[in-house]
Amino acid sequence: MSTPISFPPTRSLVLSLIISLLAGHVYGKDVVIHAGTLIDGISETPRHQVSVVIHDDRIIAIEEGFTTPAGAEVIDLSTQTVLPGFIDCHVHIASKLPSRVNATEDWVTHSDLDRAFDGALFMRAMLQQGFTSARDVGGGNDSVAVRNAIASGKIAGPRLWVSLEPLGPTAGHGDPRNGLDPELSHSSWKNGIVDTPEDARIRVREHRRRGADLIKLMPSAGIASTGDDPRQQLMTDEEMRVAVETAHALGMKVAAHIYPAPAIEAAVRAGVDSVEHGSFATPETFALMKSHGTYLVPTLTVFEIYYVAARDHPELLTPGTAPKELANDLLPKKNFPAALKSGVKIAYGTDIGEGDHAMEFGLMISAGMKPIEAILAATRNASDLLGASDRVGSIQPGRYADLVATSADPLSEPTQLEHVNFVMKNGIVYRDHGQPTVGGGQ
Ligand SMILES: [Zn+2]
Repeated sequence: MSTPISFPPTRSLVLSLIISLLAGHVYGKDVVIHAGTLIDGISETPRHQVSVVIHDDRIIAIEEGFTTPAGAEVIDLSTQTVLPGFIDCHVHIASKLPSRVNATEDWVTHSDLDRAFDGALFMRAMLQQGFTSARDVGGGNDSVAVRNAIASGKIAGPRLWVSLEPLGPTAGHGDPRNGLDPELSHSSWKNGIVDTPEDARIRVREHRRRGADLIKLMPSAGIASTGDDPRQQLMTDEEMRVAVETAHALGMKVAAHIYPAPAIEAAVRAGVDSVEHGSFATPETFALMKSHGTYLVPTLTVFEIYYVAARDHPELLTPGTAPKELANDLLPKKNFPAALKSGVKIAYGTDIGEGDHAMEFGLMISAGMKPIEAILAATRNASDLLGASDRVGSIQPGRYADLVATSADPLSEPTQLEHVNFVMKNGIVYRDHGQPTVGGGQ
């Protein structure tokens, strides 16, 4: 792995530094981006010929026309479309593509330390895809370590919010012992187990102590897990209520992985902030979510990838899960138009680690979403779900300088979103002219 540093100093950078020192800026760098088109993550209407003024890691002004404050370095994106850095609200930083590795073998032959190195690699690639923020909803100590290493500038990657192990019952979707020899054990495998409301309260507080930013619940069973039925609710209403109450009291949001409609409705009433997947939701479920302001994170990407894996490489998946994948993975895409019609708030999420995080744009758009709505799902809505709209998700003064650019208009050519050619995070350029900079790695 290369050591991330800011982009290589150029003569103009050195010159602008000297000029800014002469201008009285004792420390700090001023950069101005000349954006041919700006999609700011607030409005549905793009603006043209706009200057984005950046000081250090923050956006400080947006000006009409191409202006150059004295001493500022110009980044010329005058023929490009500039957007806020994308946000993926559902990742697992160390998760490998299911067609590439045997899931069970990978699970029992890797430690959290191994997973941290995988996570570092996958997050570096994700930043290159234009994702400057992400929410990890189910990892271990590896996710905290990678989040901290990125935040302190040791490695390149999106800024991360992490949940640690999902909370759910014994034998539920989050129980790491499912399908294994019952005699096998590992000290971390009980970290997410909740079988009573009191367990829920304690686990939330323990997660907080260990560094969690949010809490993930597994109220219903899963698809990619052995021995459970995705149409069942497994956590009790009271366990969910206590988990949400404890998390919210600590200022943490709650994401809930749920498939069946009655379980979604119970979780929404318990106060969760987002429903992940929502495969078997009905129009009534979406209406209830809308009335509570609950987000839907559809994660069409993971279903697409696992459907193909179950069809082509069932032997690699967790034992017994390929039939569940084949029976259920196409439903969310089928349900997506009903979600759109309901007006429920939608935030962008893929449910992958390794792989193409921009795939979700194309999947949501082909299932009926307008390109601008897909962009806002990955910017404005995603930052709102993170509770971080004051820092990320839009291009306006006060926000981190997290920006991407495409060479053609993504509203008329949405595949552009899968090929960003410029990525800036925290005011540092990680990708330029379609290539990683020295700090961007790869
Ligand atoms: Zn997930």
